[in-house]
Amino acid sequence: MIVEQMRWDLSQLVEIDDPDYISERLTAAVRASEEFRDKHRGKVPDFNAKQVLEMLEESDKWALEFEGPFMYAYLKYFADMTTDVAKRLHSNAQNATMLSQQNLAFMELELGQLLKKNPEIINDPVLSEYKHKLERLKRQIPYMLSEEQEQLAIQKDKNGIDAWSQIQSDWLATREFEIEVDGETKTMPYGEIIGLYEHPNRDLRKRAHEVVYSKLGEDEILWASAVRSVSSDHNDMTKLRKWPTPMTQSLIANDVDEAAIQALMNTIEKNVGVFQKYLRLKAKAMGLEKLGNWDEIAPLPSAPDKKYSWDEARKMVVESYTEFDEESGTWMDEMFEQRHLDGEVRKGKTSGAFCSTWFVGKSAYILQSYNGILGDVFTMAHELGHALHAYLGTRAQKPSNYEIGSCIAETGSIFGTLLLVEKLLTTGETKEEKLAVLSTVLDDFGQAAFQVSARVFFETAMYEAIEKNIFLSGEKISELWVEARDKVYGDAIDWLPVMKWWWTMKLHFYIPNYRYYNYPYVYAQLFVYAMYRLYKEQGKVFVPNLKALLAAGSSKSPRELAAEIGFDITTEEFWQKGIDQFDVFIKEFEDTL
Ligand SMILES: [Zn+2]
Repeated sequence: MIVEQMRWDLSQLVEIDDPDYISERLTAAVRASEEFRDKHRGKVPDFNAKQVLEMLEESDKWALEFEGPFMYAYLKYFADMTTDVAKRLHSNAQNATMLSQQNLAFMELELGQLLKKNPEIINDPVLSEYKHKLERLKRQIPYMLSEEQEQLAIQKDKNGIDAWSQIQSDWLATREFEIEVDGETKTMPYGEIIGLYEHPNRDLRKRAHEVVYSKLGEDEILWASAVRSVSSDHNDMTKLRKWPTPMTQSLIANDVDEAAIQALMNTIEKNVGVFQKYLRLKAKAMGLEKLGNWDEIAPLPSAPDKKYSWDEARKMVVESYTEFDEESGTWMDEMFEQRHLDGEVRKGKTSGAFCSTWFVGKSAYILQSYNGILGDVFTMAHELGHALHAYLGTRAQKPSNYEIGSCIAETGSIFGTLLLVEKLLTTGETKEEKLAVLSTVLDDFGQAAFQVSARVFFETAMYEAIEKNIFLSGEKISELWVEARDKVYGDAIDWLPVMKWWWTMKLHFYIPNYRYYNYPYVYAQLFVYAMYRLYKEQGKVFVPNLKALLAAGSSKSPRELAAEIGFDITTEEFWQKGIDQFDVFIKEFEDTL
């Protein structure tokens, strides 16, 4: 394997591949944002439609002009966090990002003021391309406080709920866990010990859960204080801002409405039995009476120890996209040809994987650490699905119409993994190989759709408890968690008693001013599975529909996007299609067993 091919080529992002030049461009970006601010600030509330259009176009132009240097600086750093050059560029880019954001912040605020004064302007044909962007801004207006109150809230949060949130991650990051591995006692930080949850040794997995959660439970007073403060603050702000429910803020941020999310969650509630059926089958596949919670995401003992070379993975993934659509396959192959992927495993590289849209190049860049296991091939297919989204979106939209909310952001990526599943199931030679593929995809769906739904029910239960003046002690919060969890899992799993402390480690519950981090995951899974079901039912006719949906970026709401394919996301009938596809995979798993 020529390693060169597994390393990305960032030089395409900039005219001159030189750190000093890039730093200069970053400084120029800040200067240009200052000029933009000085030209428009204070004037927007009196703008006519044509002036609004000119300003928005100018802001998109700014984004395109400086995209390359910013991307270069960030990507270079994530690929190699240890070199001085990368560190310097990264810090320059961060600084330039912060200053530019400050300079550009007036725009949305003043557009809000304009929309309040002149709501009709939204329907002016001159602004048709930016209509949905303006609609999203307009939706926030009724809940805004006075400028003084907004300022005060930010100031008070800094030493209030922001600090409560910070202590959760600081505390978790500094805990140490002792565990015996292969007869030797080891001390591990949280980030390391959780790796044991997927260890092939069942007893070790169980002990890892015991060790982690009994230790976290010892600090229940701290965790409970933090969750209680952040949640109570949100409840107070809901009243102050007159949001109809604690979920309203996130509904607006995600560009969705309550009817759609209600239908989604109802569908989950009605189908918990389908999930439980899979958990029982997985127990059978593992040779167990019943799964313990420590088996939930564990690999099947029969899973083959198969490795895929970079070239093999490339071939398989590109082919799976090509079988879906010729053009998409060509684009995915171009990603490799032009060296837009960084798969090499090396020191100093950031962990995890991501895909970054490159607007000017109408393409994307992908980072992952490729070790050749099945999961890495799935990651490749997933990130390339984001790239497909980028190829389509950048060809059809301006940057400000490509600010995709979390309900839609994973559409290309999850769809891409399903295309790979199809490929792996047809090329897989043994029963064990097929079971490994199916259990990977079923586990992923189960976690994102059902486990995450338990978190939605749990969060709702917390706000209801606060409303009823029930004191949220550690024990009380645990009681609410166990209730929400059992609603989803029934008796399909044996839980260690310490698992009642599960909520203590989940950062999402502690993030201030952004609550209900959870349901977009559920949305994305069911939405894409429903799309895939349609593809299976309609065949090639469906292909242009999905491509149009991805190409629309954020120029339309998720509800409109689905409506264009003939679906109403406020009905349970639509979401059931997603569950039906999950059920098809379960059936296949059962038949292969
Ligand atoms: Zn993703």
